[in-house]
Amino acid sequence: MTPPSHYQRLPSMSRLSRSVLFLAVVSTTPLRAQHSTGVTAEVDAAYKQGEALYVDLHRAPELSFHETATAARIATELRQLGFDVTTGVGRTGVVGVLKNGIGPTVLLRTELDALPVTEATGLSFASAVRTRDDNGIDVGVMHACGHDLHMAAVVSTARIMAGDRSRWRGTLVVIGQPAEEVVSGARAMFADGLLTRFPRPDFAIAVHDDPRYPSGTIGYHPGPILSNSDAVTVHIFGKGGHGARPETTVDPVVIAARTVLSLQTIVSRETSPFDFAVITVGAIHGGTKRNIIPDEVRLDLSVRSLTDPVRKHLHAAIDRVVKAEAAAAAAPREPLIERGEPTNALVNDSALTTRISSMLIRELGPTRVRDVPPEGASEDFSEFQRAGIPTLMLKIGATEPAAYEKATREGTTLPSLHSSSFKPDLQPALRTAILAELLTLRELMPVVRAARR
Ligand SMILES: [Zn+2]
Ligand SMILES: [Zn+2]
Repeated sequence: MTPPSHYQRLPSMSRLSRSVLFLAVVSTTPLRAQHSTGVTAEVDAAYKQGEALYVDLHRAPELSFHETATAARIATELRQLGFDVTTGVGRTGVVGVLKNGIGPTVLLRTELDALPVTEATGLSFASAVRTRDDNGIDVGVMHACGHDLHMAAVVSTARIMAGDRSRWRGTLVVIGQPAEEVVSGARAMFADGLLTRFPRPDFAIAVHDDPRYPSGTIGYHPGPILSNSDAVTVHIFGKGGHGARPETTVDPVVIAARTVLSLQTIVSRETSPFDFAVITVGAIHGGTKRNIIPDEVRLDLSVRSLTDPVRKHLHAAIDRVVKAEAAAAAAPREPLIERGEPTNALVNDSALTTRISSMLIRELGPTRVRDVPPEGASEDFSEFQRAGIPTLMLKIGATEPAAYEKATREGTTLPSLHSSSFKPDLQPALRTAILAELLTLRELMPVVRAARR
């Protein structure tokens, strides 16, 4: 079943409270843009196929680095549009190249993977897929992050771009990136020659749906928008023994307890309140029985920041605090501190963001296109920026305006990304994603007409 049309629901919106300006203007302004009626008509023409693709992909999600059927489908779609397609880039990645004369090279990225979540949306096309994850555990699988919406948008945008090549000049590179949810797919594609075997992009563009904003809207922000994220594992060593004879031991449980509290002062006392920083101790493992003092306790930390100086300080302070607490307790061995593969903050190129956001505001109006604050989540689209390519990720509002208004009014929270109940407000969100991509690509790959003599 096709979800109900957003347009059919619009009349009831006129009764909504006008107290939330963002929503009020969105809900009373038709999604059809005043300045870009022609583009909206092109999106309308491509929409039906895009929605059908979305439904197919939503029904058949695949976990990170297992996106074989998904990749094959994207490859087939792009080939049919005339793209030169290569598969198996970075294991399951797809690269499609469409050359259209002399001009800039622009990369448009979608992710391919889904999450180990059992879907509870109740949608008629909900995923019933179960599989074994990489640890052999039986899990449900769901597109709970909206990567299906991103794929449908990217293919629809590619369809419009391929269908009318008189409106742009340059090289369009569309990629289906695997394994974003385990933040390793971008690195895998780079390691497999994404930037050397294919035209090197002058710009890299991506969109991500976001249920914190009403559907029909686009969010942008220059500079950091998603955080650095580092996994830190701390092994605290003590000297085990009988729980009744603590004087013969060095108790790592007590050292761990002190360490957890001291770590909290790094953000609260050593970091400016105006700098984003998080140190979360998400897991403590130690001990087996109440009357045994263990030899070791392990702490699992998640460390997040937006800038390199803050990140550097957090890590130096963690080392200092962890070692000092162990030394204060006369631990027999210095703690072992291990760091996992880091995810870098996603930084939108300032000049590119200003250029695209100004154009989008001009085309769609300031109520649909808004500067949104950065957040603490992470994404490996950051790897493109780290590779020296100006990047921009736009946020696509995904919550039905009435539900957004109700949640704002009542102070309740809506299902977030990765929730088993997350379902984007499909029609307006998908249309807006296509519109944003199409306008952005044409802005970056204009047809430059020769001046008359
Ligand atoms: Zn996700
Ligand atoms: Zn995602």
